[in-house]
Amino acid sequence: MDVSVVVPLLNEAESLPELISWIDKVLSQNKYTYEVIMIDDGSTDNSWNVINELKEKYHCLKGIKFRRNFGKSAALHTGFQHARGDVVITMDADLQDSPEEIPEFVNMIRNGGYDLVSGWKKKRFDPVFAKNLPSKFFNWTARRMSGIKLHDFNCGLKAYRNRVVKGIEIYGEMHRYIPVLAKWAGFKKIGEKIVRHQERKYGTTKFGVGRFMKGPLDLLSIMFISKYGKRPMHLFGTLGTLTFVFGLAMAAIVGSKKIIAIKHHVLAPLVTSSPYFYIALTCMVIGSLLFLTGFLGELISRSSSERNNYHIEEEL
Ligand code: UDP
Ligand code: MG
Repeated sequence: MDVSVVVPLLNEAESLPELISWIDKVLSQNKYTYEVIMIDDGSTDNSWNVINELKEKYHCLKGIKFRRNFGKSAALHTGFQHARGDVVITMDADLQDSPEEIPEFVNMIRNGGYDLVSGWKKKRFDPVFAKNLPSKFFNWTARRMSGIKLHDFNCGLKAYRNRVVKGIEIYGEMHRYIPVLAKWAGFKKIGEKIVRHQERKYGTTKFGVGRFMKGPLDLLSIMFISKYGKRPMHLFGTLGTLTFVFGLAMAAIVGSKKIIAIKHHVLAPLVTSSPYFYIALTCMVIGSLLFLTGFLGELISRSSSERNNYHIEEEL
């Protein structure tokens, strides 16, 4: 099969008929063999009934219904597991992305040698302050931290080589950083393509202000896991040692001052009246805690089933 289109959706009943007929039109015109996988992420509207009805007409359609809302990442993950096409396209169900772009994406993967191509909503039709500006900031941070030169990490419209989607695991709300996960799994050729973007036609956005907090936190975890996930002691051990040694040195100064004073029979103040004493104490305690965290991290990563999960590209 040439193409799998994966569509995660939550309460998008009005958009679905238009979406599937548009995708079907574009893909059949291009003579691809294809499937469209719609994942109903626990919709409470009529979406699942609509999918059932559309299934009668479109044989390329495959529907999966979650028992409750598990989130876009979960929906994408499930779609990826079912995808059989050589090229896997993801797109939002809200008609903000245009299916007309699909052939060019497929071409970039097939003939351009790309592992992943991300859409870039260069001209964006979303609320400026609620979305466009924060998103510019996210993308800048994500670019700096991951070293991937993409303008729009979170664009719903993306294309993947099949082995990319089978080789990465999206969980939590990591759908924002799939390119980072792909890079970390060893897929180097990540490209981008400018896409047309439209205003939402039906329904409302499913992501509220919670995004502003969750997005950066997820990016931090992803960077931490990719760098130190398999060797937590290197991070916590280093920090712990530095902090502890700093505290120890300070304690030594405070202590030796006291000893010298006693030796010279000078009346010295109590060590506990020096602020340095408390700083030294705190540093040593925090240093030990960091060290302990490192040991615990090592124990956890050692018993993880992922610990020897490497991505083999080829074998002879
Ligand atoms: N979505 C989903 N599960 C969720 C939230 C959203 O499957 O818990 C789907 C939603 O139906 C849409 C896509 O993810 O197809 C993108 O959501 P939305 O358009 O609300 O995001 P925005 O474009 O506002 O960033
Ligand atoms: Mg949208």
